[in-house]
Amino acid sequence: MSEQMKNYIAEAEEALLHTYNRYQVVFDHGKDVHLYDMDGKEYLDFVSGIAVFALGYGNEEYNNALKSQIDKIIHTSNYYYNVPAIEAAKKMKKISGMDRVFFTNSGAEAIEGAIKTARKYAYLKDGKTDHEIIAMNHSFHGRTMGALSVTGNPHYREAFEPGIGNIKFADFNDPESVKAQITDKTCAILMETVQGEGGIMPATEEFLKGVRALCDEHGLLLILDEIQCGMGRTGYMFAWQKYGVKPDVMTSAKALGCGVPVGAFLMTEEVGQHSLVAGDHGTTYGGNPLACAAICNVIDQYEKLQLTEHVKDVGAYLYEKLEAVAAGHADITEHRGVGFLQGLVFDHPVSDIIAKALEQGLVLINAGTNIVRFVPPLVITKEHVDEMIEILEKSI
Ligand SMILES: *Cc1c(COP(=O)(O)O)cnc(C)c1O
Repeated sequence: MSEQMKNYIAEAEEALLHTYNRYQVVFDHGKDVHLYDMDGKEYLDFVSGIAVFALGYGNEEYNNALKSQIDKIIHTSNYYYNVPAIEAAKKMKKISGMDRVFFTNSGAEAIEGAIKTARKYAYLKDGKTDHEIIAMNHSFHGRTMGALSVTGNPHYREAFEPGIGNIKFADFNDPESVKAQITDKTCAILMETVQGEGGIMPATEEFLKGVRALCDEHGLLLILDEIQCGMGRTGYMFAWQKYGVKPDVMTSAKALGCGVPVGAFLMTEEVGQHSLVAGDHGTTYGGNPLACAAICNVIDQYEKLQLTEHVKDVGAYLYEKLEAVAAGHADITEHRGVGFLQGLVFDHPVSDIIAKALEQGLVLINAGTNIVRFVPPLVITKEHVDEMIEILEKSI
């Protein structure tokens, strides 16, 4: 590593709050599915900024869409209409089948909006203010106080208690455990369709259908967090679309803007007509013209490139290859996931494997301490998978 890169890392540790144990690399630029550090070393990227840069780096069409929007106008206010936001909302309705969209700045903020929507919907029904939300153990929904309160990892929450209150936790993929938490105060059930940070765990069809049925039976809103598993990552625009169930409220972020910070929560017309109204919720930046120009271009390119089909195809190939890796190592206890959201579970921490891969020019990331997570840009090819597997084998 050059002196220059070492110095920058030292300066970072002096200036930035130490909330991350960072890997020892300063990335400088990217091209397609490769990243380059400031010394010019090339890396194959199987992280995409944690499920964000779906289209790969330096995508010319995307960059040009942003550049021309910058030259027009970057920001106005949600008190006025702007064309990119209108177009982005129409496109999101089309790909999700949901009816109403609110744009946010991040995933956590989308979760906040979804929680407020559920509480307001319940409040308008019975006038009470003691409603409960059921969330899942091992879930991850973000770091703001509301999102943290529904995150099923006590370790993340402990120092920051009390959270927002009236949150109960059930076991993912266990419909009986969810049923046991329902009371006459319950207003919503919140979960990721595929748990990401908490361990790359897809919902079983039985579970998702079971929870949908519980929601229908008890008049509860089903909120699906598609922030990581959505936007094509499982081979479907949104992961729930392959289960034949539909949420009442849904969140999106990460790949939605492919690098421009933006999220969204969406809902059905029924919920939209009976929840948040003028004065209930807002954001200064959320859905500004620049962010929405990004969303518009991202969705257009997904369609043009038929990315969901590509993910189904190459994702199945990745699955097959990782199955073989898992079979060859006694310390790999499980291989889970789907499409370009997969994980290898080890019986020991994986930080050394990830550091070794990085040394050899492959960017990987963990999920929890024991899982190597594979969340590459959606445009990777089978050749990239082969290249990744080769370095992965050497790193294990
Ligand atoms: C990343 C993530 C969030 C939080 O999104 P931020 O943009 O980091 O606030 C919420 N839910 C899931 C499932 C995520 O993966």
